[in-house]
Amino acid sequence: MPTYIVLLGPPGVGKGTQAKLIAESTGLPHISSGDLFRENIKNGTKLGKLAQSYIIKGDLVPDDVTIDMIRERLCQSDCKDGALLDGFPRTTVQADALANLLSEFNGKVNFVPYITASEAVLLERLNGRWTCRAQGHVFHEKYNPPQKIGVCDFDQSQLYQRDDDKAETVTRRIQVYFTQTAPLIAYYRERGLLTEVNGGQPIDKVTANLLAVLRK
Ligand code: ADP
Ligand code: ADP
Repeated sequence: MPTYIVLLGPPGVGKGTQAKLIAESTGLPHISSGDLFRENIKNGTKLGKLAQSYIIKGDLVPDDVTIDMIRERLCQSDCKDGALLDGFPRTTVQADALANLLSEFNGKVNFVPYITASEAVLLERLNGRWTCRAQGHVFHEKYNPPQKIGVCDFDQSQLYQRDDDKAETVTRRIQVYFTQTAPLIAYYRERGLLTEVNGGQPIDKVTANLLAVLRK
């Protein structure tokens, strides 16, 4: 049976950072809906143009196109043993669609680590985040600095600050998280899948806590 992990938590809590580390130790592919949208934007696709109009405002991209994009990704051969989902689902409609989709592969969501941190921590993390153009590796100017300013340690590509990490858009994204995504906490708790992990700790501590959850 394949294993599917959903990393849940507010913007900036460390989902992408942890997903990359956990993908390495579990061998599961890391699927980030945000990275997939940014890839489409970079390539100038029709989906990218549509997504950009929502992302720039800090709003969610409509469920139907988001679900189609994830469906296509999960059908690829590297996902045959499962996947680590980061940033999807973000609404209960997406969560229901994911359950239906995984049942087609004889799978289901197995673990939902819910990473938490205070709003002040989220703001500081998003404000200092630098993202790699090539593969979405993330750094923090204070907490996880690259070896060379402006250059990704892993693929030497340029680091940039995302437009939607600007203060006014961040406020909107956190608001959207509380209204549209936070209902997934109860959704997965009711299904016995949710485990809370304190994301306010240093990166290596959070990783150790997450790996302990996945061993259960
Ligand atoms: P998310 O994917 O949830 O939006 P990221 O993984 O992109 O979050 O992390 C947001 C920012 O916070 C990045 O700059 C990252 O380097 C930094 N970061 C992630 N985890 C931690 C941590 N445990 N302590 C300090 N900074 C962190
Ligand atoms: P973060 O890591 O800071 O939480 P992401 O990279 O996951 O941000 O997402 C960036 C933006 O992409 C979101 O603000 C939203 O506009 C869009 N997006 C990402 N995932 C989804 C999703 N599952 N549903 C709708 N929109 C999404």
